[in-house]
Amino acid sequence: MKASLRVGRLMGIPIKIHVSFLLILPLFAFSFAFAYTRLLGFTLGYGGLPLDDVAKLVLGLIAALLFFIAVLLHELAHSYVAIRNGYKISGITLFLFGGVSEIESHPKDAPGEALMAFVGPATSFAIGLVFLPAWYLLEGMSGLGWNIAAITAGLISFYNILLGAFNIIPAFPMDGGRVLRAVLVKRLGFIRATTVAVQVGKMMAVAMAVLGFMIFNPWLMFIALFIYIGAGEEERGTKVAQALEGLTVGQIMTTPVSVVTPGSSIRELLDRMITEKHMGYPVVEGDKLVGIVTLQDVQKVPASRHDDATVGSIMTADVLTVTPDTPAMEAIQALSRNRIGRLVVLDQGRIGGIVSRSDLIHILEVRAAERRAIGPKE
Ligand SMILES: [Zn+2]
Repeated sequence: MKASLRVGRLMGIPIKIHVSFLLILPLFAFSFAFAYTRLLGFTLGYGGLPLDDVAKLVLGLIAALLFFIAVLLHELAHSYVAIRNGYKISGITLFLFGGVSEIESHPKDAPGEALMAFVGPATSFAIGLVFLPAWYLLEGMSGLGWNIAAITAGLISFYNILLGAFNIIPAFPMDGGRVLRAVLVKRLGFIRATTVAVQVGKMMAVAMAVLGFMIFNPWLMFIALFIYIGAGEEERGTKVAQALEGLTVGQIMTTPVSVVTPGSSIRELLDRMITEKHMGYPVVEGDKLVGIVTLQDVQKVPASRHDDATVGSIMTADVLTVTPDTPAMEAIQALSRNRIGRLVVLDQGRIGGIVSRSDLIHILEVRAAERRAIGPKE
């Protein structure tokens, strides 16, 4: 996720804050500070207390921070189970609607995924339930200090139970959607199971938007939009997986590969790029891959130095490689995760081909056209 700020590291996982989170935090703090509505016995803010506005804002901010720590715990629970199941987590980002754990590679084994999805809402419920008796006891006390404590415990309890309940809804992009998919995967297969969970999510979003419109609740409409977009993203990801299913890098790579040597000048490289219409080249010394050079690397060099600067001085030495048996889906994930355009395919240590983002997009387009021509196969 772009536009994120790294704030620390927990269990070896980088914790990041998205810019949208900096927007939502004051909003939550403000709402907690001045709300005085009671719902199911909970007082949802410090608004009714005999305090000045600054004190209320400070309390609101503390409550908002406590709530986001609880969101972080929810995400850490997902990550903990993911790591135990052998997945790699590249980070946890707190953003507008809570948190998101970035799990590398899509889990395909159902039991692991169900548990991984389930522990998030379970953590939120647990936090909510732990604060429930505290809230209940504090509610009975009188005095300003006790009232503040009661409202704080109530806010944490109420919003964590709400977060758990929201996430257990069996539809994408909520955690419950992942549990539903894991349950359906055995009978329907990964792709059909995802489609079902996505359709449920979209239907729910439409129903929520209609309800939100009828009762004039902008929050509900906003959440509906978030669910609809999230479900759509999951659907696109699955379509890509479907199109690339069964394909390996060896079947889609470009071969033979044009290569350059570290000693060639940038002028020579540019001439090759124009005549051969490639945007990037593996750099080889003899038989050995020593780097990769792309048009972006060239752009960093002023034109006056094109004749004397060498490819070796501007190339990226650290090259990401795959083998011909690497699944095509893994290749596309590696490209987007590292925000690069191409991967070098090494076949028993020698350059066997190159696979680029445009090769993969080409396959996706051809597959989509095939489906349109013959109709859905389901
Ligand atoms: Zn979750």
